[in-house]
Amino acid sequence: MANSDKCTTCATKRGKMVPGNCAECTGGTSQAMIKLCPTCANGRCVVCKEPLPGGSGDSGGGSSIELGSGPTGLFGC
Ligand SMILES: [Zn+2]
Ligand SMILES: [Zn+2]
Repeated sequence: MANSDKCTTCATKRGKMVPGNCAECTGGTSQAMIKLCPTCANGRCVVCKEPLPGGSGDSGGGSSIELGSGPTGLFGC
């Protein structure tokens, strides 16, 4: 089976590889972060339950990563 039951956001998330439970039928899921089993997902993201886009994934998200300089002090070795 294709493992593309997550939205583009949740697809990048990495949860613990421990079994979880479906929130709607209390069935088993492969990961704890997955809240919907393939049956209950029904076209939704199994993690955040958001409806998956049907095909065209056009997400223009600008991720601004700021590397803040920490406090200059003596950090261990
Ligand atoms: Zn279910
Ligand atoms: Zn999601």
